Amino acid sequence: MTDLTRLSAAALSGLLAAGETSSVEITRAHLDRIEAVDGDVHAFLHVSDAALDTAALVDAQRAAGELTGELAGIPVAIKDVLTTVDMPSTAGSKILEGWVPPYDATVVARLRAAGLVPLGKTNMDEFAMGSSTEHSAYGPTRNPWDLSRIPGGSGGGSAAAVAAFEAPIALGSDTGGSIRQPAALTGSVGVKPTYGGVSRYGAIALASSLDQVGPVSRSVLDAALLHDVVGGHDPRDSTSLTDAWPSFAAAARQGAAADSLAGLRVGVVTELDAPGFQPGVLSRFHETLELLAAAGAEIVDVSLPSVEYAIAAYYLILPAEASSNLAKFDSVRFGLRVPVTGTVEDVMAATREAGFGAEVKRRVILGTYALSAGYYDAYYGSAQKVRTLIQRDFAAAFERADVLISPTTPTTAWSLGAKLDDPLAMYLTDITTIPANLAGIPGMSLPGGLAAEDGLPVGIQLMAPAREDARLYRVGGTLERLLEERWGGPLLAQAPSLAGEEMFAAESGAV
Ligand code: GLN
Repeated sequence: MTDLTRLSAAALSGLLAAGETSSVEITRAHLDRIEAVDGDVHAFLHVSDAALDTAALVDAQRAAGELTGELAGIPVAIKDVLTTVDMPSTAGSKILEGWVPPYDATVVARLRAAGLVPLGKTNMDEFAMGSSTEHSAYGPTRNPWDLSRIPGGSGGGSAAAVAAFEAPIALGSDTGGSIRQPAALTGSVGVKPTYGGVSRYGAIALASSLDQVGPVSRSVLDAALLHDVVGGHDPRDSTSLTDAWPSFAAAARQGAAADSLAGLRVGVVTELDAPGFQPGVLSRFHETLELLAAAGAEIVDVSLPSVEYAIAAYYLILPAEASSNLAKFDSVRFGLRVPVTGTVEDVMAATREAGFGAEVKRRVILGTYALSAGYYDAYYGSAQKVRTLIQRDFAAAFERADVLISPTTPTTAWSLGAKLDDPLAMYLTDITTIPANLAGIPGMSLPGGLAAEDGLPVGIQLMAPAREDARLYRVGGTLERLLEERWGGPLLAQAPSLAGEEMFAAESGAV
């Protein structure tokens, strides 16, 4: 019998439509898989006890002809940064331990309305601050390809859940790369939509001008299907775009069916094709460029000169916004309260001291300093100017190219602990992903093969102009097919076993 956990959401959807399986069967298979491997992977902070009931309800609705959406009945994992009325939402922090929110995030409400089945909440760096998921207050997630390695961050839980076949699809959030970077390091697909394309209502805020919710999956089509469900205007988010978005799934299918890329201009960001990157990452990246060229694309060099300052600008803007957003964790309104005797301020200080981890404190201190009187213009003001320059660099680059391309990350997954005591080293790994957040443009990471030196996944990043998410799915659909032809199938079919078990059997996640 087919192992339902190895199939893509699109393939499962086909089986459901044909009446060959049920949502209950699919959901049970994934819950069993979580039970079997999550002790090692630790992708989940909370597994839903309502999933099978939800699946049964969806099966009944399908039988009654009430559900038409393509993802109805498909299980989904949800990053713990998104609020859920029926599950705790901790954002990976002790300060929110056990907190069950009074409302669903808009994206979660849309999942439920479309008949998807929430499986649980996934692990993450505390308040999405980090690149390895080691800053979770609940312990790290491990990379399914090699349990001694990090899965990336901050959304390591969502990416690992998908890569370990614990969920076919997942939601993440990306402020500086937290969807794309973990996708790259686990051989998955991840998309950061155009800023404003997906609602932030109910996404526990890290840096409001940078945060975007988006899909994680094992195929471009699955990401598109999920994006179609959660995206679109939300009056509850003041920065939500009012655009009428095209079907991203249609774009992905069109891309996968295209036999030529003639007429497409692909811009190689020269600053992100850097000699300091891991050689095995660069080789796979350059081979990807050859595949694109062989399919008829025109490869051009483009420059984003201000990218040199992107990390410095990001690590002023993000802490500034985060210090303001995190001020609401004041021991009165949410979660933890440490009841020391003394003033309200004493209780607040004791609560924040006990409830926040070291990385959160580091960024709150950095942010309040950058925003303080006398320093505001020197730090925050300068960072905003750099942000404008980066946006102009992208605008110029997109006059010469339809999409931009780079490695998603400078290296493959590193060992647990390797960068934990060196915040700057951790920050520098974000150089490839941060520019898209500063510019508000969409970015996608898709698996580009394995690095020769360590056999670990390499991510290829595509970027498009703001509002052109459909272009990403179209080009991504074609590139995925070219890469799978090159590598003999989906990358996740090639991963080694986990804890002695045949983790990644030959039967793949592809449609
Ligand atoms: N790694 C980046 C950071 O630590 C990105 C985080 C994110 O996208 N949430 O800020």
